[in-house]
Amino acid sequence: MNEFESLGLNESLVKAVTEMGFENPSAIQSKAIPVLLSGTTDFVGLAQTGTGKTAAFGLPLLQLIDASKKYPQALIICPTRELCLQICNDIRDFKKHLPHIVAEPVYGGASIVMQIRALKKGAHIVVATPGRLIDMIERKAIDLEKVKYVVLDEADEMLNMGFRDDIDFVLKNTVQRESIWLFSATMPPEVRNISKNFMSSPKEVTVGKKNTGNANISHQYFIAPANARYETLRRLVDFNPDIYGIVFTRTKADAQEITERLSKEGYDVEAIHGDLTQQQRDKVMQRFRSKNLQILIATDVAARGIDVDGITHVINYELPDDMEVYTHRSGRTARAGKSGICISICNSRESYKIKQLERMVNAQFARLDIPSGKDVCRKQFFHFMDKLMSADISSGSYETYTADLSKKFEDVSKEDVLKRIAALEFDHFLKYYENADDLNVKIDRDRRTPMNNSRDRNDKKNYGRDGGYSKLFINVGSKDGFFKGNFMQFILDESNLNKEVLGRIDLREMNTWVEVDKSAASKMIKSLDGKTHNGRAIRMNEADGGNYNRSDKTKRKRISVHERNK
Ligand code: AMP
Repeated sequence: MNEFESLGLNESLVKAVTEMGFENPSAIQSKAIPVLLSGTTDFVGLAQTGTGKTAAFGLPLLQLIDASKKYPQALIICPTRELCLQICNDIRDFKKHLPHIVAEPVYGGASIVMQIRALKKGAHIVVATPGRLIDMIERKAIDLEKVKYVVLDEADEMLNMGFRDDIDFVLKNTVQRESIWLFSATMPPEVRNISKNFMSSPKEVTVGKKNTGNANISHQYFIAPANARYETLRRLVDFNPDIYGIVFTRTKADAQEITERLSKEGYDVEAIHGDLTQQQRDKVMQRFRSKNLQILIATDVAARGIDVDGITHVINYELPDDMEVYTHRSGRTARAGKSGICISICNSRESYKIKQLERMVNAQFARLDIPSGKDVCRKQFFHFMDKLMSADISSGSYETYTADLSKKFEDVSKEDVLKRIAALEFDHFLKYYENADDLNVKIDRDRRTPMNNSRDRNDKKNYGRDGGYSKLFINVGSKDGFFKGNFMQFILDESNLNKEVLGRIDLREMNTWVEVDKSAASKMIKSLDGKTHNGRAIRMNEADGGNYNRSDKTKRKRISVHERNK
């Protein structure tokens, strides 16, 4: 008996997964499918991306659907449109031999009218992002009344993104619900609360260790001066000629800037971030999937849940603030049993973060030296020679020319030919890297401080760390769905400023104090003050009406609650 069959799946589904090349169920599939097939058991699955969880919930859902009843019976909610489309496509693959079941995606950034029309035709399974789903409910375009199964995929990420109220709303309004199936990579208290508030004695299944990364990922980090971050990235890309990877940035501005610089320098790259239209994002993803792009430069939100086969490297252009984001990013590589590398470019003050990450993913991180210009050229040269040697010469009629060519090269040695090929192919590399700097920050390992390094000194000069901050007050905080990482991304994206202008951020429940480089403070205020966030008017102003210097305690005047609410 086929192993999928012995989990209780019907013939059509077993046939489909077999045709997709699935030989045996993955761990989460073996544990989840028999439970979920009952249809009435609440379920919590702690599983990373790449473990096969889409099939773990998709297959039992398809078996439970009654195709003759043409209304939504199952709702799958996930954080991003990319993931929404991916889940929907996977489900369509799984239901290849169940043609009467209809699954439709519902996500923002595309025509709502078309999606409403598609739902009207009668969808059994709706895969939705929270925002658009609420929109659909408000327009009465989707009826939650008869939904029996609600799947929350990547629940931790949805809560991180501030969708708690939307999820609560959907769970409260699926009155005939028979079970909730929650999947999450981690189990923060907010996810635990959903389980407490809405589920009854859920069956909990963990695949791998909680908060543990994939063992097939090798974690590496490079310590680079902040103003050589781009150069370090470029060197790492050049040092890995076969790279097929994603570079993660914290802000859209960074993603855009790096993409422009790399494209100008001749790399096959494109950016994917929230400022692109859905159509543009789809196009970029299509090019990346078909390997017409070698590198995708992405922000976290845009790349959430992307499942692309064979990604060799994930590069953190900067370490994320929220350590769990690291797990999500690194999970883009080493999927379906393959191995992959997750590289982080750090600064010398971030060693403590590496320690935290090592504990979190339960793996050692290797600190490597940034390759020298010479290393890069050597690597590129040998890579090219390997390609030369593995070129397929069996099908062309090269013999026609070999006699003439031999004659032409009669007086040229083999070494000379190699040198000439190298000159033709590597001239630009050699020129670029001829006088390349050593980018490695020298660390006095005992004292764990950077040794005298001109680039680090420059950092300080450039970013005004010696006391040029203004302290700004903003009337949003954790209550508005912010945590430090997404708050930072939000204010930088809105103001189009670079991360280096920021000092300390003190995020509270109702409001936040932010240190911003003096020269950038008024731009930030202008960009944010008066905007709205989730329907709330944002107020931003200088907290102390003047410059702020960390050592000057007398200036740390708080604005009174009364004043704040004026
Ligand atoms: P997921 O965690 O659902 O994003 O799945 C990760 C990848 O593993 C996808 O490319 C799936 O097609 C693949 N996959 C899922 N289940 C299996 C299986 N049982 N055997 C082989 N590949 C699988």
